[in-house]
Amino acid sequence: MTMTNPQQIAAQIATMRERLASAAQRVGRDPAAVTLIAVTKTHPPAAVLAALAANITDMGENRVQEAVEKAAQLEAEQATLRWHLIGHLQRNKAKQAAALFAMIHSLDSLRLAETLSHHAQELRSTPLPVLLQVNVSGEASKEGFDLPGGVEHEALPQFREQVAQIATLPGIRIEGLMTIAPIVAVPEQARPVFRALRLLRDDLAATLPGLALHQLSMGMSDDAEVAVEEGATMVRLGRAVFGTRG
Ligand SMILES: *Cc1c(COP(=O)(O)O)cnc(C)c1O
Repeated sequence: MTMTNPQQIAAQIATMRERLASAAQRVGRDPAAVTLIAVTKTHPPAAVLAALAANITDMGENRVQEAVEKAAQLEAEQATLRWHLIGHLQRNKAKQAAALFAMIHSLDSLRLAETLSHHAQELRSTPLPVLLQVNVSGEASKEGFDLPGGVEHEALPQFREQVAQIATLPGIRIEGLMTIAPIVAVPEQARPVFRALRLLRDDLAATLPGLALHQLSMGMSDDAEVAVEEGATMVRLGRAVFGTRG
């Protein structure tokens, strides 16, 4: 059931903060190194305000149009809110995306990177932070650069080459990687996917030393704790914060 009750949302956020902090501590990580992104897709501006009241400033949306409309309704909070695009971006929406979002998690092709670079240069005074979405699980339905198994895959050299090319584009700055784990019966089964993304990040950091790949955006409501244990710096929580959608 969807929630807009601020007390209920604050309680969910407090619970998730504790669980994420415990997960970080289990593996000797600083809990402050994990950003909780509240995924507000399908939820009204009131839900955004409730999350904001609980000190969440990072909001995730998967569609540009919905985010633009919601942001317009939250004009008064514009200076505080950081919108993250977590869904697939079409090139014809790149201009609007470059204007609104604090970070694009779903950069999935060189062509899209070129288009974003063009618009970001015109619209922004500082580079637009982007994450490269990688399909490390190999599921056919998943968006992202296809690299099932991550560093084990034979296409690794071509992927590194594409990353190097994207890194040369002005107006955008690669800050890390993002992935979506498959739906599994128990969260533990998602661990190899998260580990593969971290190992891929480590490979890129070693082979492209000019890049600062700090961010690993991975983990959703059902598997965020496992993702934090595997090094997530950003988890994207929808249902765990706002209840089920629609
Ligand atoms: C919807 C969505 C989420 C949040 O999913 P929950 O299971 O509700 O936490 C996270 N990441 C992406 C890319 C999404 O589209």
